[in-house]
Order: sequence, then structure tokens, then C-alpha cells
Amino acid sequence: MNKDLFQQLSGRLMLDHFGFGLNNIHFSEKQFMDTYGRKGMRPYKAVNSITKKYSLNRKSRPASFSGSELTEQDEFQVLQYINTIYLFDEEIMTCPRCSSRTDFRELEHGRQFHCCLNSSCGFEFIAEPESL
Ligand SMILES: [Zn+2]
Repeated sequence: MNKDLFQQLSGRLMLDHFGFGLNNIHFSEKQFMDTYGRKGMRPYKAVNSITKKYSLNRKSRPASFSGSELTEQDEFQVLQYINTIYLFDEEIMTCPRCSSRTDFRELEHGRQFHCCLNSSCGFEFIAEPESL
């Protein structure tokens, strides 16, 4: 994952689920990036760490979920919001940004989560079959 995407995803997760952005009184966006962004941590885990550290309360909470920690699903939702959902057919999906090959795994409803294998690109996106 590249730095920009990490920042976008974390910021959006914070805003959607905690009601404020990364530039909060407790910490700065730069501080956040320095602490978590370089470790290759998933954004939702980074947000969990910082919100736990400062005892911040989550304002949104899925009915099926009793804890206050964000999950990978929350992150995928934000990813779909930030980046368009790409469509795929029978051909092998390549990165829409740099055309490199991607690594992917299956999600629910036939969707796939793709990570660009070109480390200088680091784009990530959700793709779904054209027929859906
Ligand atoms: Zn790429």
C-alpha cells in the first residue's frame, strides 16, 4: 500500500467512524504517518491502535458487532468509496494505475480485493465481475 492511500483510508475511517479527521488535538497527521504508515500496518489496525491509545469512542457501530474496533470490512467499505470499483471479465486484472500485475483475494459477493505488485505504485482496489 502506498503512503497516499494509507493516509486516505485512515483519514476516512477516522472521519466515518469516530467523527473527526487525522488532524486532531491529540496528534497530527504527520505523527500518525510516522508512527503507523511506515510499518506496513493496515489502516484499520492503525486507526484501532490510535483510538485505543487515546480512548476515543466509535460513533458508528454495526448491529452485528459488539466491540468498538474497526475490522477489515470497514476498511474495504472505505476503499470502495475512495477508489472506484473496477470491473473484471475473464482476462487477468492488472493495476488500473500502472498496468502491473496484482495480487488478489476473494471477498463476499464475487468481489475481489486487489493489491498492485509494483511496490512503487502500491495501488489497491476492489473489483467485481462485469455480470453483477
Ligand atoms: Zn500499480
